[in-house]
Amino acid sequence: MSEESDMEKAIKETSILEEYNINWTQKLGAGISGPVRVCVKNSTQERFALKILFDRPKARNEVRLHMMCATHPNIVQIIEVFANSVQFPHESSPRARLLIVMEMMEGGELFHRISQHRHFTEKQASQVTKQIALALQHCHMLNIAHRDLKPENLLFKDNSLDAPVKLCDFGFAKIDQGDLMTPQFTPYYVAPQVLEAQRRHQKEKSGIIPTSPTPYTYNKSCDLWSLGVIIYVMLCGYPPFYSRHHSRTIPKDMRRKIMTGSFEFPEEEWSQISEMAKDVVRKLLKVKPEERLTIEGVLDHPWLNSTEALDNVLPSAQLMMDKAVVAGIQQAHAEQLANMRIQDLKVSLKPLHSVNNPILRKRKLLGTKPKDGVYIHDRENGAEDSNVALEKLRDVIAQCILPQAGENEDEKLNEVMQEAWKYNRECKLLRDTLQSFSWNGRGFTDKTTC
Ligand code: ADP
Repeated sequence: MSEESDMEKAIKETSILEEYNINWTQKLGAGISGPVRVCVKNSTQERFALKILFDRPKARNEVRLHMMCATHPNIVQIIEVFANSVQFPHESSPRARLLIVMEMMEGGELFHRISQHRHFTEKQASQVTKQIALALQHCHMLNIAHRDLKPENLLFKDNSLDAPVKLCDFGFAKIDQGDLMTPQFTPYYVAPQVLEAQRRHQKEKSGIIPTSPTPYTYNKSCDLWSLGVIIYVMLCGYPPFYSRHHSRTIPKDMRRKIMTGSFEFPEEEWSQISEMAKDVVRKLLKVKPEERLTIEGVLDHPWLNSTEALDNVLPSAQLMMDKAVVAGIQQAHAEQLANMRIQDLKVSLKPLHSVNNPILRKRKLLGTKPKDGVYIHDRENGAEDSNVALEKLRDVIAQCILPQAGENEDEKLNEVMQEAWKYNRECKLLRDTLQSFSWNGRGFTDKTTC
């Protein structure tokens, strides 16, 4: 039987209130889908965490992938799931929701916990890293990329010194087989990293490089990048691509540092930290995903298996006591992850004729049939036509690829335009129009009106 139908069978349709008492006032933490609450099992008085999601295919997918992974000791366990109609006080009618009962992680989030340690040592950082790596290895062996590995999703079981750390939140997790094996996407929009994953797979198949037990894919390599950032911050208390300019989106200099992989180990905090630790960070923060360590490489690395004392106290605990510092680090990390996931959007471009969008209909775009997935007509055009073409292109991108771009819309649009340009350099119309809109190869120097 498939995991999908197993999962459907496991979801209870009886009321959760027959078995649990929900504490609506206490919030354990808040994520994009709302607060995670506390519930108590009536028969045992045991406390659990309760995550409530709208009952949609995306939420069912989250539950399915989380359930598939949750047998591992370093992954938060799902106890059971209910599908109930729930009406919150501000709602006029009940709505179908999934209520996910999880084991309670009383020890809280990773950075909060580190900030409470007076003497958080390099050894402890390495032990925490090992547990995170084991959780990731389990997911990657099941061919699941987590894609949202960040400190808020790493929780401690309790407040004891040897409490295990566990991975939660499979809201962005994804089965990775598709990207690796079957290119169902339009090649104009495929990310180079996906192609690299395929090349690597071919090399493994023909024996040129040894086969990895967890097949390499782009999305998995994103998890390893995140792991590198988390180790770096755990060790020193600030992020590797630190930018002095604090802003709501990733600033340009920070973006450049990320793209070129330029980070340092400043003496003040790093002089006491071992070379082994620096080595694992360097190997995880490689710009090219194919050069990054795989999860097996991390688990085999000497820093995770060292018998040395590594009892140097890290500067991170002190720095993490400042909540604003932690919030800044977490925001930057979340944005990096969101940008990495843009790669996904590019491969899910919808054919124009299947888009039922009022703006596109108004512009009569739906009347023109797309030609082999390329939506730009490369014929000689006057400047006016070019501007219309660019507006159309931006609409297509905004509506087909970035339906939920939200706050960072301009930033994301620029990234997608860069990709469109990369794969369509011969297209004279695109070149002329981009130039007429002050495109400098990386972004629009003047803000456009469309
Ligand atoms: P979202 O998908 O909405 O981001 P998460 O699953 O990441 O939600 O949970 C949001 C926050 O709730 C977490 O960062 C954490 O602080 C808290 N949380 C989640 N699961 C648990 C749990 N099992 N035990 C205790 N706290 C939890």
